[in-house]
Amino acid sequence: MPTETKHAKTQRSDIQHAKATLSDAEFIRYSRSLMLGDDGDKRQLRLKNARVLLLGLGGLGCPVATTLVGAGIGQLILVDGDKVELSNLPRQSLYQTTDIGKPKAEVAAVRLHLHNPHPRLTVLACRPDDQQLRQAITACDVLVDCSDNLPTRLQLNRLAREAGKPLFAGAVSGHSAQLYLLSPATACYQCLVDPDWQALQNCRTLGVDPALVALTAQQLALLLLRFLQAEPVPYADVAQHDTGLPFGHYARYQQWSQGQSTVSGFHWYALQTNPLCDCCAHATAANHFTATGV
Ligand SMILES: [Zn+2]
Repeated sequence: MPTETKHAKTQRSDIQHAKATLSDAEFIRYSRSLMLGDDGDKRQLRLKNARVLLLGLGGLGCPVATTLVGAGIGQLILVDGDKVELSNLPRQSLYQTTDIGKPKAEVAAVRLHLHNPHPRLTVLACRPDDQQLRQAITACDVLVDCSDNLPTRLQLNRLAREAGKPLFAGAVSGHSAQLYLLSPATACYQCLVDPDWQALQNCRTLGVDPALVALTAQQLALLLLRFLQAEPVPYADVAQHDTGLPFGHYARYQQWSQGQSTVSGFHWYALQTNPLCDCCAHATAANHFTATGV
């Protein structure tokens, strides 16, 4: 393709530099990403050095993991205690009919390794308790919540806040989809919800649109890649103004009329910290404790 050949020549110096730090196989595999902009090598190496924990390998987690691994993430910890079910297969692209009954995290790791053998994959095929999750979080730069239930979301949110790590979250049920970008400098997930709310309003009770799940997952993966490939900033300072990403915001998928057409997309809204949020209060107290060395 002539256009690609010409573009490749204009990026030669970047690619030569990247070759010194990426293997030949990686250099070829990621060549289309390296061509993107003047700093393709720097962005690819940042991604190679990134460590991500992904909790939930269902309809959202499968495509998010596939995109991160395909793009060249350095390390990915896969957490899911469920087994593959027949009703998962329309959305969860890492699994096949013959995988029914097998642990999702283990099957996913095998398929992802076949997709790209370079990333380091770690499996946690259980519903982790706080101690297990704390240990996994310590090894990661960024946490991703693709779970399907409120207790798990609140657990990861609480431990993310405790560890002072950024949290990217997605949720889809029925025809509704949301994204959340949270950091220690913003409101947390628990600021938004009543922790006593136990209604089982998820895809098991409301159904789920497979195409909307895929769309939401790729939006989440796009935000993650932009964050992981950008110039690093201290976690405690991660906010919208220093990343260009909408930290401290959540997005809802919406459709609206524009002329005679119906258009759709994610609309972002600012989150407000809840002064009564126990999670934020505890995190603030813990950070103060550490900072003063008491
Ligand atoms: Zn909070």
